Amino acid sequence: LVRFSGVQKTYDGEHLVVKDLNLNIQKGEFVTLLGPSGSGKTTCLMMLAGFETPTSGDIFLGQERLNTLPPHKRNIGMVFQNYALFPHMSVEENLLYPLKTRKISKAIAKEKVDKILSKIKLKEFAHRRPSQLSGGQQQRVALARALVFEPQLVLMDEPLGALDKQLREHMQLEIKHLHEQLGLTVVFVTHDQSEALTMSDRVAVFNDGVIQQIDTPHNLYEYPANSFVAQFIGENN
Ligand code: ATP
Repeated sequence: LVRFSGVQKTYDGEHLVVKDLNLNIQKGEFVTLLGPSGSGKTTCLMMLAGFETPTSGDIFLGQERLNTLPPHKRNIGMVFQNYALFPHMSVEENLLYPLKTRKISKAIAKEKVDKILSKIKLKEFAHRRPSQLSGGQQQRVALARALVFEPQLVLMDEPLGALDKQLREHMQLEIKHLHEQLGLTVVFVTHDQSEALTMSDRVAVFNDGVIQQIDTPHNLYEYPANSFVAQFIGENN
């Protein structure tokens, strides 16, 4: 479903942060980009989302070449660490927003919002403002907002980074459950090895703008391709 073909990204004409990236992601897969800070994970996600353009190479979503397609024309949902919910809108209005911008009729939009609110068990909070919710609830609304228009692809950049350990583990399970239940294709970014290993079908280990290895959690752990992967995957385990 997603294909990076020889993608490079240079900032300011000299700072090469993604180097000749080749990556294929299948429909329904949960793939995590894992690596230390500054290794280029977020830049890859931003190129997929359309907030950055590759300096060279191509990115495809299905048959469509994405490179310079503006973000709102991509059928992609996004969740970030700082939820970025609209503070002046209720939960329901926040969820209606992406449907409105996609010109979906009010009646159908309302139906979709009700459905996703039940799915994430936040129906009774529909009329609250984000500030009247806990951090975990806000993050679930952000998740629902990324899913409500049934995107082809969902991007998540450290979505659980702001949550405490217990809530984080709970949300990991919830995201996994939604992935399976809705058949989502997810690209997830984290620098937390154990989060990557628990959640993913495959993990791409980044260092210095290069994928060192992309494999199942089991294989990364048992058969690391080099000492960087062995050390990075071994930490905290
Ligand atoms: P983190 O986990 O800290 O978010 P990351 O692996 O996601 O790190 P990126 O955010 O992709 O890494 O950054 C890779 C490199 O590109 C870093 O050295 C960063 O300073 C640089 N960089 C990122 N965005 C820009 C930008 N808009 N302009 C210039 N340099 C940038």
